[in-house]
Amino acid sequence: MESTTLFQIAVFVLGLCLGSFLNVVIARLPRGESVVSPPSRCLSCKARIKPWDNIPVLSYLLLRGRCRSCRAKISWRYPLIELLSGILLLLLVRRVENPLLLVPQGLFLLALLAVAWIDLDTQTIPDAVTIPGVGLGLAASLFAPPGLAGALLGAICGGASLWLVGALYEKTTAVPGMGGGDVKLAAMMGAFLGVGGVFGAIFLASLAGSVFGMLLIARGRADVAPPFPSERSSRPPPSPSVFTGTRSSVSTDHSCPDRDACCIDAPARTPPGDGRIQPSP
Ligand SMILES: [Zn+2]
Repeated sequence: MESTTLFQIAVFVLGLCLGSFLNVVIARLPRGESVVSPPSRCLSCKARIKPWDNIPVLSYLLLRGRCRSCRAKISWRYPLIELLSGILLLLLVRRVENPLLLVPQGLFLLALLAVAWIDLDTQTIPDAVTIPGVGLGLAASLFAPPGLAGALLGAICGGASLWLVGALYEKTTAVPGMGGGDVKLAAMMGAFLGVGGVFGAIFLASLAGSVFGMLLIARGRADVAPPFPSERSSRPPPSPSVFTGTRSSVSTDHSCPDRDACCIDAPARTPPGDGRIQPSP
């Protein structure tokens, strides 16, 4: 097998492991809990999840989507997020050759995936992801495109443009527009993508969001809502579509984060939301 193929397989497996960690982040971050401890347990029977029952995707398949101890059902979203993470990193590594770009862009994509899912769950965008994300984007720009000046400009323009749109909307309609989370998310995207990239991503995200909204309306799942309603639960959260737009904007080249550490230490899957949600293996 070619070394390139082996490398891509390794990156895909790494993505699966990081996806397992994302499951923990998505579940615990909105609740203000540590993403490191305690180890995951089945919410139904409280049994601690054994490492061999916590292998991304594979354990879900082997256990047929049920807890080994109590046979309670495990949500399909855990293997889905793991698979998405693996696929994202695989697509990235196939497009990006510069090792200096691979790590920050990979982390950026995974951060967007977590933000999108948390936004879907809670209609909030966590500062704990976006603010360090701005810092990471600026740090990465010191040795990779778009460069520090481009990243700074991108962060300022991205955040300011969304803030401005929200403020104008609020001024004309007296309905609150963009939340602070949206502004910080745009700033994070700008820090990674630069000015052209962030505006391209926002444009694509708007398109994706519009299509998503129209699909919901067509299926009778949503009312025709203003673009930035104050009650975010009444409209599709923007960050999943922002994620879609940004994924298309991320381009170009590098190697993965510490593969061994993430696999050994990847926290167990933790069910999202409150205790009603199915246990994880
Ligand atoms: Zn159980």
